Amino acid sequence: MQIDIPIPCPICGGKMCSISYETTLSILKKRSWQVCKECNFERNSEDFKKSICCA
Ligand SMILES: [Zn+2]
Repeated sequence: MQIDIPIPCPICGGKMCSISYETTLSILKKRSWQVCKECNFERNSEDFKKSICCA
């Protein structure tokens, strides 16, 4: 699943989208990360949440 997010890429200022991926294996947690559509910069959503908390 891919969702556009209103946060600009920190590298190029381009549009980013959030991608979530649900595994069929219950032992694996649901993953999500953010990808820039312009330069393909990626970051883990968990790391991003931590950076907001500490700001
Ligand atoms: Zn970018």
